[in-house]
Amino acid sequence: MDLGVKGKKVLVTAASKGLGKACAKAYAEEGAQVFIASRNKAQLDRAANEIIEQTGNANVEAIVCDLTKSQDIENMMQSIGRVDILINNAGGPPAGKFNDFDDADWQHAFELLLMNIIRTVRAVTPAMREQQFGRIVNITSSSMKQALDGLLLSNTFRPAIVGLSKSLSQELASDQILINSVGPGTMETDRIRDIYKQQPSDESVEERLNKAGTNIPIGRIGQPEEFAKAILFLGSAANTYITGQTLIVDGGAMKTL
Ligand code: NAD
Repeated sequence: MDLGVKGKKVLVTAASKGLGKACAKAYAEEGAQVFIASRNKAQLDRAANEIIEQTGNANVEAIVCDLTKSQDIENMMQSIGRVDILINNAGGPPAGKFNDFDDADWQHAFELLLMNIIRTVRAVTPAMREQQFGRIVNITSSSMKQALDGLLLSNTFRPAIVGLSKSLSQELASDQILINSVGPGTMETDRIRDIYKQQPSDESVEERLNKAGTNIPIGRIGQPEEFAKAILFLGSAANTYITGQTLIVDGGAMKTL
């Protein structure tokens, strides 16, 4: 299938590693012009070089941006100009229960998970409307559908992204701008390893990751590249009629309808 992303300008935020980087690589493999953003320049440059090396696509550019800062987002958008395909990703919020968080924690999670998307969508949609083409995909979490134990901030803001995206899908569809949200189940990235490391256990992280996989119908946890395939299709010209939807990529783990 021709995905129609060759030459398209794609921005993947929070893409120096993990799911964001895998998505950026998937677009680079398809010949897109890819911009990756995150806070740490050295890590970001390493990711860009790795993607260029692995895909043979030299059109991969790294842009330093802290997604919790409106000025950073504005600067990033100005330096990129028109964006055809926007993949919104961000770092995950810390784990914890209600009494663990103060106002600053709530504000930070709001800026990181929700406000970041509002700002990037605001920046990209004028040009998308003009050219009558745009694809936006939000990387969220399975918590957009079912609350996760000990992840209160995620459980609060991920469903808000779904509400925002559904409303936006209605406003943007007549200009051929499609927006969807994709939630990972358990994918093998630093984020998951860090969460496992924080949990006291006699078993190694590796052992526990393998064990976690046995509770998933597919029989293992997922790889970032498997997640990226879903993003790539939804955020491509080949997707012509899916908008305002949520998709969970979790090997069949969740039982909600
Ligand atoms: P990761 O920790 O491997 O990568 C996170 C990326 O976000 C990094 O590039 C980091 O530099 C960047 N980042 C963090 N804070 C940022 C900020 N303020 N500004 C700019 N960039 C920032 O995480 P991941 O596993 O790839 O997860 C990506 C998203 O998916 C997260 O929101 C995470 O909560 C969510 N998620 C992941 C899983 C999973 O199984 N991996 C499951 C559920 C949800």
